[in-house]
Amino acid sequence: HECVQRLIRCGFSGANVTLPHKSLAAGIAEIKHEDVEVLGAANCLLFDDKIHAKNTDIEGFYKPISHLKPNSAIVLGAGGASLAVCYALLKKHWQVKIYNRTIEKAEQIRQRLNEYGHIEVLQKPNPFGCTLVVNATSLGLNEDEIPELMWDGIHPSTIVYDLVYRESDTLFLQKAKSQGLSAIDGREMLAEQGALSLEWWTGKHAPREIMRKAVGL
Ligand code: NAP
Repeated sequence: HECVQRLIRCGFSGANVTLPHKSLAAGIAEIKHEDVEVLGAANCLLFDDKIHAKNTDIEGFYKPISHLKPNSAIVLGAGGASLAVCYALLKKHWQVKIYNRTIEKAEQIRQRLNEYGHIEVLQKPNPFGCTLVVNATSLGLNEDEIPELMWDGIHPSTIVYDLVYRESDTLFLQKAKSQGLSAIDGREMLAEQGALSLEWWTGKHAPREIMRKAVGL
């Protein structure tokens, strides 16, 4: 709160907020976008006479897959990123299956988002019948980490989307590509959520190509 007050005093128009401050940012805001109310998390604040909060992760995540026909998706992980991803997919009429090491946390997401569409908890990371696989765990930041997935059950046309981003492909994306699957890098979402935030603050088109280049895309 202290930090936000200081930013306002220094004349900042807004701020992008990252892990682990997204719930705090939602709590501080006086005017919250509906998505922020649902998720209890904001990654973007705008300051005028009030503090406004948005969650551009939702649209930022969806943009790289917006050309796909909604079908069935499996989401790995049940933290804050998974909650935003599941909500984004349900809003676009995807059927969502969620798998997490700690099943209870996946169940909590299911209960929270149940009213927005079809969401089920899996006991195993089985992608059978899914056209999209999303890694929303934090596994992959270290180059030898990979989330659990039953790769044998995967259809060849499935798209594999890793939220975790590095300078080069995560092991998860390397594995997907080695199986001939299409892969989406987490930097796509990173750049797009940033572009959407910039557009909200300035009311101008964001220089997406420059921003993408800055993260190595
Ligand atoms: P989080 O709330 O800490 O959740 C972490 C998740 O990873 C939990 O489901 C946790 O399972 C799972 N996990 C961690 N270690 C594990 C292990 N050893 N084995 C199995 N599962 C494990 O984190 P978050 O905020 O959701 O963020 C997740 C990732 O998304 C981060 O790497 C973040 O950088 C990335 N992200 C990227 C973007 C982007 O723009 N590309 C945006 C947002 C987030 P348990 O519940 O069992 O502990």
